[in-house]
Amino acid sequence: MRMKATFFIIYFLFVLLIKVNAAENNLKNIIIFIGDGMHKEHQIAASRFFTGKDEELTWHNFPYRSSVSTWDINTYNRYAYIKGDKLYSKDNIDYSLGYSPLIGGKTANSSESLKRRNYFLNKLPLVYKENLYKIPATDSAAAATAMFTGQKAETKAISFQTYNGENKPLKTIAEIFREKNKGSIGLITTVPFNHATPAALISHSESRNNYYSAVDTKEGIANQMIAFQPEVLIGGGHPAYNKGWGVKKYLSNDLYNLMKNSKGYIFIDRQNKLDASQNIKTAADQAKTMNKKLFGLFGSKKGHLNNIKPVYKDGTPIVKRDSKENPYLKDCVLAALNVLSQNKNGFLLLAEQGDIDWANHENNYKHMIGAVWDMDTAVSTAVKFVDKPDDDIDWTNTILVVTSDHANSYMRIKNKEKLKKGTLPRQFKLFNYHYPLREVKYYTHAHTNELVDIYIKGQGIDTFRENEGKYYPGTRILDNTQIFDSLINELR
Ligand SMILES: [Zn+2]
Repeated sequence: MRMKATFFIIYFLFVLLIKVNAAENNLKNIIIFIGDGMHKEHQIAASRFFTGKDEELTWHNFPYRSSVSTWDINTYNRYAYIKGDKLYSKDNIDYSLGYSPLIGGKTANSSESLKRRNYFLNKLPLVYKENLYKIPATDSAAAATAMFTGQKAETKAISFQTYNGENKPLKTIAEIFREKNKGSIGLITTVPFNHATPAALISHSESRNNYYSAVDTKEGIANQMIAFQPEVLIGGGHPAYNKGWGVKKYLSNDLYNLMKNSKGYIFIDRQNKLDASQNIKTAADQAKTMNKKLFGLFGSKKGHLNNIKPVYKDGTPIVKRDSKENPYLKDCVLAALNVLSQNKNGFLLLAEQGDIDWANHENNYKHMIGAVWDMDTAVSTAVKFVDKPDDDIDWTNTILVVTSDHANSYMRIKNKEKLKKGTLPRQFKLFNYHYPLREVKYYTHAHTNELVDIYIKGQGIDTFRENEGKYYPGTRILDNTQIFDSLINELR
């Protein structure tokens, strides 16, 4: 009898020990890719051009896939208003007001019932906060805030609460990760480095349009991002190129000089006739051997890096960039990982392909395909980096998330037969882009409230799975705030 009891106690302790061990978090490195404005249909378009099949991009074979709702407070409030419901309040959220799976569907969907299309495309009355978009959809600022702070925000807000009479900064996952895990932080984007998506990871502002302020002040987004001193920051907005009539300016010469002379950094920028792919690699190697951080500043007239054009040459789909003086996203990702992986405590890397959104606003199919290619090759570069043996970075301590902040343009492929490997729709520009042969159709130039895809590889999938349908019962939908929730829960 006694033996038996002792046995059970030992057995019980043993089971408990295993449980405790299993509950220990292993996640050390976080890599987040955001295809700005990328809907499922844009992935299919790029995949068809480069492979002839619908789902052959790098992330399509990741072990986890689900859908994400992206609405912001403005979207929510417009729906609340027309339904006579209460406006958004943090303590009482009706998620189906922000996005209705009953009308919009349970996944990011290509099929087009008229009811669904109207739900996404009908404009709402401008009763809530005038002069914002009439389109019921988030912008990149509020979406990034949701993903990086776990809090819904109003359109334009950069990790900042601006509602319920309470104006205050919201703590981001990068700030928590640096404080708690002592990990390194890296940010890359193909658009200006202080554009909404990267901005929301390490700065706070009521408006995404506060791109920069005087060099000795703190309000500007660029000012805050430079002051944060991330271990890696690479993007566009170089003031020497970002100029011309009617062009939006992202950075002052004073701030450029501040970046250039930042202590502890290797600084690399766009150079006449020099290949940026090579230069960024050399700079990263230098930063690595000298134990320094890395700033990379590139850009063009509009502030972004490159338009990337798909071309079909000798039976092979390839791409061409505007200028070799600006790097591809994959070059930046490899450079960043080389620097960030030096930190034994781990790293958090955000890589944004922002031109998918810019091309979609123009309804430019060609540039959109090139931008998705840029993201695909960058994700594949990151996968190979983690796969590499003989270092302490592998899939048991690293998570790779590929998602989008919102959909854009409601593009639909109308004739799949005509869009095979290497073929593009015929497009011409007369104010906007037109598709005379109707291979594809664009329904809007704006963002939509459609669900976006999320693909995950590595450590931490379980938490995402547990969070499915929490706000949308009977579905597998995640809300964008749950990207923050899940990652925080998995951090060790
Ligand atoms: Zn946009």
